[in-house]
Amino acid sequence: MTETLDISITKTLNSRLEQTDFSNLPFGRTFANHMFVADYADGEWKNFQIVPYGDIVMSPAISAIHYGQSFFEGLKAYKHGDGKVSVFRPYMNAARFNKSAERLCMPDLPEDIFVQSIAALVDVDKDWIPAQANHSLYIRPFMFATDPYLGVQPSKTYKFMVITGPTGPYFSKPLRVKIETEYSRSTEGGFGYAKAAGNYGGAMLPSRKAVEQGYDQLIWTDSKEHLYMEELGAANVMFILDGKLVTPSTRDTILKGITRDTVLNLAREWGYEIEERRVSVAEILEGARNGKLTDAFGAGTAATIAPIGEIEHEGQLYTLIDPSQRVFSNKVLKTLDEIRYGVTPDPYGWNYMV
Ligand SMILES: *Cc1c(COP(=O)(O)O)cnc(C)c1O
Repeated sequence: MTETLDISITKTLNSRLEQTDFSNLPFGRTFANHMFVADYADGEWKNFQIVPYGDIVMSPAISAIHYGQSFFEGLKAYKHGDGKVSVFRPYMNAARFNKSAERLCMPDLPEDIFVQSIAALVDVDKDWIPAQANHSLYIRPFMFATDPYLGVQPSKTYKFMVITGPTGPYFSKPLRVKIETEYSRSTEGGFGYAKAAGNYGGAMLPSRKAVEQGYDQLIWTDSKEHLYMEELGAANVMFILDGKLVTPSTRDTILKGITRDTVLNLAREWGYEIEERRVSVAEILEGARNGKLTDAFGAGTAATIAPIGEIEHEGQLYTLIDPSQRVFSNKVLKTLDEIRYGVTPDPYGWNYMV
């Protein structure tokens, strides 16, 4: 599709921008003035609209509520020093959006519709993109089933929506994490690789227990034996072990992160040896003991690059090297920021200019 999307735009008469405190932006609580909405019916996407952000009315019988036909994406828009605005690698999110849709028997959304709807919405609300360092406009596209029907089968109608909100850093300090050896986030043959709503509901009890035990996050391990690392909460997990960048290879239990892919690209460019493979809990803890583990962090759009400060496994707490001394994660975060905020050129074409 090369033609531009025909979007009807209704702007709000009651902007909330002036009342918003941009010095206090916890993740996910503040929403910009507008939202994007489209409908799927009779086998096609239609009614592309940007309207004032607000509540929506739905049948109580929709299968999104009862059977979880619902999934989302997460990406960010950045304001550059010269006032230009970019969205980071949105076609990657568009492709993953359709992988999630396919797994949940939901309709494909053409990638250009996904990207153009986001670009149009970000443009309408560009004054909501914070200008201060480490801040951005978080973009949340999502799709859900809307048939008013309680049968357990795929809906015939859906909504695609996008909401946005200004946000600062998700984590403010190095993470104290627990290696989860009881619960699982996803299983082989399941849908852990999809950003399906149900994956996050199922993660809430184990996450809450970890928080009650004094941890910020947990590291998911394989559901069969709990011997291999999978992810860090809702971020991918990466290590520098013995000088090499080591990260779990993606499989159907692991969400294939765009930040992960971006970090791997930069590491490859910098000449790091990269190992995408199964990563055992034992080898990482051994590295923490013998000093060969020189970096450990979560990588994700919301989390950005989140250093792991301490790791607990079966009653033993390991303190990792001081995050300020870590070469790789500090360099990768700095480089990523410079590209995303337009401080340095973007030779990879990662910034989609709005
Ligand atoms: C979104 C997400 C990630 C990170 O993906 P990005 O594309 O880098 O934002 C990793 N794991 C899970 C479970 C996620 O939901």
